[in-house]
Amino acid sequence: MYFTPPLARLIEEFQKFPGVGPKSAQRMAFFVLNMSEKDVHSMAQVLVEAKDKVKHCSQCFHLSANDPCEICTNERRDKGTICVVADSRDVIALEKTREYKGFYHVLNGLISPLEGRGPEQLRIRELLARTAGGALREVILAINPTIEGDATVLYISSLLKPLGIKTTRIAFGLPVGSDLEYADEVTLTRALEGRREV
Ligand code: ZN
Repeated sequence: MYFTPPLARLIEEFQKFPGVGPKSAQRMAFFVLNMSEKDVHSMAQVLVEAKDKVKHCSQCFHLSANDPCEICTNERRDKGTICVVADSRDVIALEKTREYKGFYHVLNGLISPLEGRGPEQLRIRELLARTAGGALREVILAINPTIEGDATVLYISSLLKPLGIKTTRIAFGLPVGSDLEYADEVTLTRALEGRREV
């Protein structure tokens, strides 16, 4: 199939998105070509601006345009709990439940020997630094029940236990391998309430 080079490049770029195959990429590229010049410019600007302005919070590593982020600077939140998640999307999922009032800590991945990701590549050192000060009562591990998730939970709890910090993991009433990010609010609320000490 032949596309004129700038169009071929556009299709190639769209194919870099997760879950987008050649056909969808083609459809998206043709859609862009049918958009007004003004809309295309504004879309391109939004892309660049998002990349430019959205960074990781230096305390919890959640994605935010502010540092510290809106959650870390909220005085009404409970300083006694930190909820540890793999990814910023998990923070969004848990915030939607409106049940959790503590702080977060985003690891930026899970321990995965297969993918060559060890604990030193995650924000675990930074998590330990946040346990100092005495205000912290509990660390909740909201981590998916996968092999990588289990390895990460085991590793973190082995570091927190000697410090005398209560460490719990949310109870998934979900099939093994299911994703926290896709759980609905009711399921997540139950998972939080049913958390167990690890
Ligand atoms: Zn933060």
